[in-house]
Formats: sequence, C-alpha cells, structure tokens
Amino acid sequence: MTSKTSRFSRRNILFGGAAGAVLAACTNSKGQAEEASAAQAAFADTEWRALTEEQWRERLSPDAFRVLRKEDTERAFTSPLNDEKRDGVFHCKGCDLPLFKSDWKYDSGTGWPSFWSYIEGNLATKPDHKLFIVRTEYHCARCLGHQGHVFDDGPAPTGKRYCNNGVALTFKPA
Ligand SMILES: [Zn+2]
Repeated sequence: MTSKTSRFSRRNILFGGAAGAVLAACTNSKGQAEEASAAQAAFADTEWRALTEEQWRERLSPDAFRVLRKEDTERAFTSPLNDEKRDGVFHCKGCDLPLFKSDWKYDSGTGWPSFWSYIEGNLATKPDHKLFIVRTEYHCARCLGHQGHVFDDGPAPTGKRYCNNGVALTFKPA
C-alpha cells in the first residue's frame, strides 16, 4: 500500500511538471499573439483594410499581389533590392507604411532582402504551418500584406533575420 501510494504521488509530480511546461509554452505564444494583434489593432480603422481582393489586384503588379495578398514567396536572387545599399527606408508596397531602415539591412546570402530589426509597431506576426516546420510569418500591421518570415539566425544585436520578399517593398532613398 505504501509503495503504491508513493508511486502514485511520483507520477502526479511528473505530470504536474509536464503540464507546467505546456502551460508556460502556451503563455509565451499567447503573449506574442497579443503583441502582434495589438500592432494590428492600432491600425484597425484604416481604409486599407476595406479594400477588396479585386481592388488589390488593380493596385499591385501580379507578382506583388501574389506575395502581399496570397502569401507567395518570390524566387531567391530575383529582387533588385538585394543589392540596394543606399541610405533610406523600405516601405510596404501595399500601403506605403515604413517597415525597415537601411541601417538594419545586411547580406544574409539567402537571396532575399534581409534585416535584423524593423520599425516598431509596424509589423505583426502569426504562425505559418505551410511547411513541415512551423515558421513565423510577418506582415504589414496596417494593410496586413504578407512581407516574409522571421528566423532566429540573424546577426547581433537582435539575432533576428527578417527575410523579406523584395517585391513587397518600395525603397525610398534618404
Ligand atoms: Zn502595408
């Protein structure tokens, strides 16, 4: 009886530990989701959200439409912005919201314009389950246009790599 009780309580402790870890993981992703939806909510009243798919199709090139509105990915090494090295700001091609400063751009060797930081409040993220691994998708917080995916293999000081489709950006030299 004594040994049975002790085995039971040990299992209970183990289960408690696992449940605690799951809870911590959920709390963490919930926190990120809240942050992302706060960025989107800040622009909730924008007229950009009211545009129909047809109106977007009229405003954008076919390539930009596929990326921004259908979450497509441009072929690597196809964007002229890969080689853009001037001072300036990269804006969302959908609604012109400034997203990245040229100071944060670096050559990641991936074939897509890459940045290690972004203009706070102007991007929002969500989990992307399209591949067998879960990636973090990010989009313009105002028009919700898809921009790219963010990874944890970027340079200091953030360690982040914002891997952006060039066709979803407009560069404005300083
Ligand atoms: Zn936008």
